[in-house]
Amino acid sequence: MSETKGMIIVNTGAGKGKTTAALGVGMRAWGQGLKVLVLQFIKGGWEYGELQAARRMGDNFVLRQLGEGFVTNTTGDGRTDHQAAAEQALHDARTEIMSGKWDMIILDEINYAIMFGLVPVNEVIQLLETKPQSLHLVLTGRDARREIMDKADLVTVMEEIKHPYKTGVMAQKGIEF
Ligand code: ATP
Ligand code: MG
Repeated sequence: MSETKGMIIVNTGAGKGKTTAALGVGMRAWGQGLKVLVLQFIKGGWEYGELQAARRMGDNFVLRQLGEGFVTNTTGDGRTDHQAAAEQALHDARTEIMSGKWDMIILDEINYAIMFGLVPVNEVIQLLETKPQSLHLVLTGRDARREIMDKADLVTVMEEIKHPYKTGVMAQKGIEF
């Protein structure tokens, strides 16, 4: 008898590779016939390759963008929009997690949304505590909160040794987006 133990996985740290590692494990799961959902809490400015890939992968690998774009330095009225979008995103995540439709859900950049105060950490903890037993949940984003890492089965901290951005090299298609 091999009952699935749903893993809570955290990819954090300042180095590159948090989202792409999550997508990699998502692809591995998809290849095994698991149903994978990616929910992106923060939208970047690019047309990401993974959006195109997900469209081709079909119903068992679904990627949805939920947030309102970059939140860095957002203050004043703009922040209210981000707040509303983040609340909606968390609500959608909860619905999908509890639906039992998925084998793996990736909450991309949720740590970032927590750090910016857009998503309350206690609500995320509650999600981790009440998720279906067999569901694999992957959380990405720098500055993961200690409480979340404490609840996780697997935590990886990406460490930056070198990043081309530091020498002025622009983002490359297929690497950054
Ligand atoms: P990726 O999506 O490539 O796996 P990531 O999820 O680890 O990256 P994020 O914090 O989500 O990184 O940042 C997204 C963007 O910022 C990516 O284009 C990534 O290459 C870039 N980035 C990540 N780490 C660094 C860094 N240390 N310095 C400069 N840019 C970075
Ligand atoms: Mg990322």
